[in-house]
Amino acid sequence: MIHGEIHQNVRQYINGRWETSATTGVSANPSDTSEVVAEYARADRRQAEFAIRAATEAFPHWSHSTPQRRADVLDRIGAELLARKDDLGLLLAREEGKTLPEAVAEVARAGQVFKFFAGEALRGGAGGGGGENIASVRAGVQVDVTREPVGVVGLITPWNSPFVIPAWKIAPALAHGNSVVFKPAELVPACGWALAEIISRAALPAGAFNLVMGSGREVGQALVDSALVDALSFTGSAANGERVLQAAASRRAKVQLETGGKNALVVLADADLDRAVDCAVQGAYFSAGQRCTASSRLIVEAAVHDAFVAKLRQRLKELKIGHALERGMDIGPVADEERLAQNLAWVGIAREEGAEHVWGGEALQRATAGHYMSPALFLARPEHRIAREEIFGPLACVLRAGDYDEALALCNDTPFGLCAGICTNSLKHAMHFRRHAVVGMTMVNLPTAGVDFHVPFGGRKGSGYGPREQGRHAAEFYTTVKTGYMLA
Ligand code: NAD
Repeated sequence: MIHGEIHQNVRQYINGRWETSATTGVSANPSDTSEVVAEYARADRRQAEFAIRAATEAFPHWSHSTPQRRADVLDRIGAELLARKDDLGLLLAREEGKTLPEAVAEVARAGQVFKFFAGEALRGGAGGGGGENIASVRAGVQVDVTREPVGVVGLITPWNSPFVIPAWKIAPALAHGNSVVFKPAELVPACGWALAEIISRAALPAGAFNLVMGSGREVGQALVDSALVDALSFTGSAANGERVLQAAASRRAKVQLETGGKNALVVLADADLDRAVDCAVQGAYFSAGQRCTASSRLIVEAAVHDAFVAKLRQRLKELKIGHALERGMDIGPVADEERLAQNLAWVGIAREEGAEHVWGGEALQRATAGHYMSPALFLARPEHRIAREEIFGPLACVLRAGDYDEALALCNDTPFGLCAGICTNSLKHAMHFRRHAVVGMTMVNLPTAGVDFHVPFGGRKGSGYGPREQGRHAAEFYTTVKTGYMLA
């Protein structure tokens, strides 16, 4: 078994300096809870406010920096992430529990995100080469439309993708000239710190980027409440997102939410069944189902329902679940004891409501004490809670659909709208589905989880609010539009 080094003194990064806090916390390895991954400083409200003031003071300087300087800073961060993807991936796997290959791939993707936004800094990022020149309706008047940075942005992130989600917020924020206060999730402070450590050496002015680790209730709330924070980008649960939205809207801060999902993978009778099972296994269970894009509802046309369930059950039996650093594992542990208990409680709810158990859903013992469970599969009806609520663990259900129309109706019968997939060989149904699935992202013959880094990411209905993240569209959130009139 590989063991990494223990990180001592993981500190806040505020106004260009590393700071301790009055209290500390620890993060543990979910594959082996006897291993401490990090001892970290836990900020309080006062320290969060200090970071916000530092970002406010840095804003005039950073927002007027040249595109070349911003591009150089982001390119340097991206290059280091890519060069160190293996050691940072090891840290991610130890702290969050993704398997090592998944963790290394996540760090590489975070590096690519920074590289992409280095290019955006040069291109102007305004979705139109930096601005527009438009003929005025009045004679002798010139009009132009330009984009400017928003100001101080508060970035609040979840634990499940602790490199790439922060990357896809921090990179566009800095590329467009904003200053940043970044609050990672409490389960993954060392990942947040490792990213901040790289950023701290990228020649940014003091205060342009700050890291504050601590609780959502205190540090997150300080960002949400502060009149100095001009924009808030939050990824996390729907309930916390709603709180952030209400508080931010009441003081007219710009706000962007990426919240949960209850994503469907539709399997039609004409699909390549092996491919469909592959998509289901990857989409529903990899990363222990702890992805907002997980396909937790498998909607299968009646003609292939039983064959699909039999094949999927066989694949689930063969999956290897164990220590995230052990070679050959398909699935690591879930993130912590609380999530494991919640997942097992969901298995109980599924049984009580009468969903038919197909496979798994049990806590597993391994050589090390970790939060292991077998992937769970149930046959459900649309009214069952496991078919309606986000679980965020390795639990999926199959819903039977009579035909394509019923499958599409079931797919859209949810308060969420992040992504949806379909497995079919019918061009007609694929095209119809892409147009009529009420989501932010569609996938045809691909897993619902696993997206590109240079195109928009986000959802509709209960899954998101405000402009999309990633790609050129990120400019909509991280810039504000100014219209200039001039007598020619
Ligand atoms: P969470 O809501 O518990 O926490 C997310 C972040 O918000 C953390 O940093 C937390 O400390 C902070 N927070 C909590 N209360 C706060 C408050 N009152 N004010 C400000 N900040 C606060 O979510 P989680 O358990 O870390 O992550 C899992 C959730 O994230 C799932 O629901 C999942 O679907 C969602 N998620 C969504 C996406 C997406 O892009 N749609 C991506 C990943 C995860």
